[in-house]
Amino acid sequence: MSVTRRGLVAGNWKMHGSRAANASLVAGVRAALPAGADCVLCPPAVYLADVAAALAGSSIGLGAQDVSPEAAQGAYTGEWSGAMLRDVGCSHVIVGHSERRARHGESDALVARKTAAALAAGLVPIVCVGETLEERDAGATAAVVGRQLEAVLAGCGVEAFRSAVLAYEPVWAIGTGRTATPEQAQEIHALLRGLIRARDAIIGGSVRVLYGGSVKASNARELFAMPDIDGGLIGGASLKADEFTAIVAAVPG
Ligand code: PEP
Repeated sequence: MSVTRRGLVAGNWKMHGSRAANASLVAGVRAALPAGADCVLCPPAVYLADVAAALAGSSIGLGAQDVSPEAAQGAYTGEWSGAMLRDVGCSHVIVGHSERRARHGESDALVARKTAAALAAGLVPIVCVGETLEERDAGATAAVVGRQLEAVLAGCGVEAFRSAVLAYEPVWAIGTGRTATPEQAQEIHALLRGLIRARDAIIGGSVRVLYGGSVKASNARELFAMPDIDGGLIGGASLKADEFTAIVAAVPG
């Protein structure tokens, strides 16, 4: 990893947890987190305020798993705005997760609008891109992730990535136990960084690109050692405090 980029690890709890389980998970993460680590926890939205309270006084960030593309309050049943996320203590929000793209039909254009809404509210968007197994097998990985990223660049401008974080999450590696090899991930991270660098060399060099897809304590170190991998977006392993904090500890210091 470049010495100029600080590693980040975000835990995506997906639709897991309960008030009791969350309290014990946060306590476990707080107790074992390496000093100075940059880390964010993303619980289900209904628990954000609870988790914000449990994180009080710590350096751990709070992230949501989704945000409305709408900035103003209004008739958007089941949605929440970036301003609301800030109001309950969020610093980050995941946008364009493959489960939202697949289950809710989120288009590249909608992901770009959500990224813009997050930025306008002062949140750090963690913008997810990634190909399915069929797309990889068809040799379309570069085209797919390039298209997903270009939509955000077109909608928000390269300036978005002064603060936004990018996450490469091959769909075939999410929750499957099948991790991309460090070389496979590095190839795509370098490609994504190159697309940003082509628009702005400084932003391309400084943007943080996380890897997500079955990261565990046992494989995190070799992934994070790659030059263009700046940390991870962690699903299943973020539900175990010891496993998650070991992943955070694998970020080169
Ligand atoms: C994710 O949910 O973004 C993810 C990467 O999940 P997992 O780590 O379980 O593969």
